Parts: sequence; C-alpha cells; structure tokens
Amino acid sequence: MTAAARDRVRPRADVALMAGYHSPQVDVDVRLNTNESPVPPPDGFLDAVAAAVGQVPWHRYPDRGATALRARIAALHDVDPAQVFVANGSNEVLQTLTLAYGGPGRAVAVFEPTYALHSHIARTTGTDVAEGERGEGFALDLAEVRRVVDEAAPAITYLCSPNNPTGVVEPPAVVEEVRDLVPGLLVVDEAYAQFAPWSALSLVDDDAPLVVTRTFSKTWSMAAARLGYLVGPTWVVEELEKVVLPYHLDALKQAAGVAALDFVGAMEERVSHLVEERGRLETALRDLPCEVWPSSANFILFRPTGSDGGRVWQDLLDRSVLVRDCSSWPRLEGCLRVTVGTRDEDDRFLTALREVLA
Ligand SMILES: *Cc1c(COP(=O)(O)O)cnc(C)c1O
Repeated sequence: MTAAARDRVRPRADVALMAGYHSPQVDVDVRLNTNESPVPPPDGFLDAVAAAVGQVPWHRYPDRGATALRARIAALHDVDPAQVFVANGSNEVLQTLTLAYGGPGRAVAVFEPTYALHSHIARTTGTDVAEGERGEGFALDLAEVRRVVDEAAPAITYLCSPNNPTGVVEPPAVVEEVRDLVPGLLVVDEAYAQFAPWSALSLVDDDAPLVVTRTFSKTWSMAAARLGYLVGPTWVVEELEKVVLPYHLDALKQAAGVAALDFVGAMEERVSHLVEERGRLETALRDLPCEVWPSSANFILFRPTGSDGGRVWQDLLDRSVLVRDCSSWPRLEGCLRVTVGTRDEDDRFLTALREVLA
C-alpha cells in the first residue's frame, strides 16, 4: 500500500533528485559548527521578551507589516522603514527574493565556494543556477563574474561578504563593480558583516539594484528565534511583500526583535570580543600543521595538512568537539570550518586538535 501510494504521488522530478540540507545536530560539549553566538542574549533581553509574551494579543493575527520592528531596524541603519523587509531568518528573505525575482526560466549566479543555501533555494524554487569559480585565496574574480553574467544573464547575483565558508570579505570597489555589471538584482548576504571592516549597506539606494541581507542568528545571540531582514530599494520590498505568506512573522518574534535592538551596545561589545578571540584562534591554528585562511567573520576555514580532513573531523567529534566538515565539498577538499567560541571552548577545540594532529 505504502509503496503503491508513494509511487503514485510523486514530487517534482527535480525535488526527487535533490539532497536536503544536512548539518549534524549532535549533543557534544563544544559546538563550533554553525557559527552561532557562543553566549546567550543579555539577561535584560530575556526579561523584555518575557514581558512581551504577556502583551501579545494571542487571539489576533500579528501586525502584517511588522511596523515597530521595521521602524527600529530602519533607525539602526538610517534608512526608511519602507526599505526594510523582515522574515523568518535571512534564509526566508533569500527564499522570498528568489520567489519574486527567480523562478522557472530565470537564473541566479553564485561564486563557489559559497553559502550552500543560495543555490539550494534557487533549486527549490525552480530557478537555474549559474556557477562561477572564485580565484586565488577564494577572492572574487571579476573576469569570471563577467563571464557568468554574460552567459546566464542572472536575475539574481549573490555575493556573500564575508563569505561563508571562506571568511573572505569583498572590497567595496568589487561590490560596486559587480553591482554595475549585473543585469538583475545584486544580493549581498551580510550574515557576518558585524565582524567585518565595512558593509555594503552604504551602497543601498532606491536607484541601485542592490540589497543587503542581515540576520539576528549570528551576532545577536538569537539563532533560536529565526529572524532576518533585508535593506534595499522600496520597489524591491514591495515585490517581496506580494509573494511572502501573509502574517508570516509571528508576534512574539517581532517583539523579540524590537527587544534585541535595545541592546546594540552589548551586541557590539560581544562582536569586538569575538573578533579579538578570532585573532587568538587564528594564531594558534597557524602554529599547527594547518593551512589557514584569514577570516573577517566569526569562523575560520582551515585545512589540516598531512591528515585526512574527514578523519580529523571524526577524531574531534570523538573528543566531544563538533566543527563543520567541509572536507568532501567541491573546492574545499580536506577543509574544516570552526566557529569562534568562548575562550574556554576554543581552548578545548585547540587541545583536541593538537592531540588529533600529533
Ligand atoms: C547563517 C547564514 C545565514 C542564515 O541566516 P538565518 O537568518 O539563520 O536564516 C544566511 N547567510 C549566510 C551566509 C549564513 O552563513
């Protein structure tokens, strides 16, 4: 019966062939695999959210326009609330962008290696993926960008800055050049921008085909809340609002976002602490038999030399330390990615790695 029913009810052929999103969620002492903040939000934040729970009119749909939250985000970045679109994690922002600007007969351009969800979301929405290659040190190669753009005329071109999983930040001149080159929308995914020396937010303008996406998941210690947003031209936000599900952003999440924005100072302090810790971690990694890429994010990509990357990943896991295994990803043979944690977590990681590589 099951087999017969399953045979009759087929998913889209491309979906049937698709691999889902995989990142192991296992119980370990030291979790440095998904670039979350190593520390919970400030106490005051939790009190504010607890108070908000009591204020939510639970029998009513939430504010569809997320008015209060958008106004606060707009104030933070000194833009108009009509230039802000908020969703369930920046992944939903990316999906909404692709629903509005991608789809069958259209293409997105990505430059690999980069964040896997850019091409994954394209595929789930029936959008073609035009893949370009990064150059030396994973830097963007403008000749390659021109080639891909000329060939595929992408409706959406993705830059990820700082790039996940390499940590490379794109210089302003490169982003501006790509913006002027692409025939469609340029999406700059800035999930890690707070850790970087500059942001493409300064390039957002109603006359520029460029949007910047941000998330509360990484710097804001709010990965559990699933909250992200975009800053871009008002005419983009208007299109996104047409395709996103009505009332997609629940009332509690909106309140949590507003509460978080009362703690900008605390967040900035955490960021500078993590940037300092990143420097310490990078130096320590360079003392080990590893190739290490300089990072402008809250993680570091490294390749153990003379040891099998997948083996090292497993040996770390056996010592209750979980990092991201990129060792079998195309272009990243043998590489692992470690999130910057607390000093204590990073020391435990380094101790385990020294043991494993000895
Ligand atoms: C983590 C990450 C995101 C995901 O953000 P959510 O807001 O948690 O959906 C988006 N882009 C990049 C590059 C990331 O690494």
